[in-house]
Amino acid sequence: MHEKYFDHAATTPVDERVLAEMLPFFNELPGNASSIHHLGKRAEAAVDLARQRVANLLGAEDPYQITFTSGATESNNWVLSRFPVDRIDASPFEHSSVRNFLSYHQCHRGESGLDLYAQVLVDNETGAVFCPAEEKESRGALEVLVDATQGFGKIAFDLEGLDFVSGSAHKIYGPKGVGFLYEANPHLTPMVVGGWQEFGRRSGTLNVPGIVGLGMAAELALEEREVNFAQATELRNIIREELDGIDDLKFNESVNQSPFILSVSVLGVEGETIVLDIDQKGFCLSAGSACSSKSTALSPLLLSFGVEPEWIRGTFRISIGKDNSRESSRELGENLRITILNLRNSKKS
Ligand code: PMP
Repeated sequence: MHEKYFDHAATTPVDERVLAEMLPFFNELPGNASSIHHLGKRAEAAVDLARQRVANLLGAEDPYQITFTSGATESNNWVLSRFPVDRIDASPFEHSSVRNFLSYHQCHRGESGLDLYAQVLVDNETGAVFCPAEEKESRGALEVLVDATQGFGKIAFDLEGLDFVSGSAHKIYGPKGVGFLYEANPHLTPMVVGGWQEFGRRSGTLNVPGIVGLGMAAELALEEREVNFAQATELRNIIREELDGIDDLKFNESVNQSPFILSVSVLGVEGETIVLDIDQKGFCLSAGSACSSKSTALSPLLLSFGVEPEWIRGTFRISIGKDNSRESSRELGENLRITILNLRNSKKS
């Protein structure tokens, strides 16, 4: 259906099976999950099931460790806001919801120890995969916040040693505006105070359809993780082969690499120009990440990879998902080759 959509790291379409689970909770089953009548109980049971499904996907011992939020941005902000500003540090590769929180609140690592270290699991620009438990240990931090938004449901990882894990449903074929925070040992003070929903941690009437959608998306992601991983690996290789051999083109890859993301840099053409040109042929890609595509700041991760600024300006991101096919991947590669060569030629003339 979305064969030419290659921007899954920005967001994914909602899986039809997820949508089917969500729909009754908009009108047929309108109960408030806090109400004591049968429709309230029905909504509560659906939320409980969703919590169990997210716990299963993560490998959490107890669904009580999961709090539903509006997404990873909120979850990250919640955790960061509960630590003293001079006792937090973060890897240079964090999403803007961590990076900008730290600069906005003028967090700076003080002289004394570190209470919290933030380490993304999978970088959304390049797909580099990190090992947060090792980072926590090497930084000597008491706790680690793992932004797993680009990794959960896609690559298997171990919760051992991780204190907080955040994610958003819309990266795994669930709806936008709903996500979760996992706490190994739930102890954060409440994110929002009100009617004491979500064990008192995040008040406000629950977004039942959204939570149900997240739960179903988590269930499917767990069942289909290996198949999706193998498919992404194959399609990524196809696109890579199609692009290989173009002059002044390189792939930004790390030793531990997610197959769902292919970051490419070229010389002499802006990434954004490529994205707009290929869009005319029906393909959706991204120049850098969707969240930072409007900013002109150079990616810290690419700089750390040793990518020169003129190459960074010519960077675009292909992010693969389950509706992409071998044919559309090949077609994308061929079209990119033509686009890049044409844009370079038109600059010369
Ligand atoms: N962290 C990472 C790594 C992301 O890729 C994103 C979304 N691009 C977020 C956090 C924020 O997710 P949301 O916009 O759903 O809050």
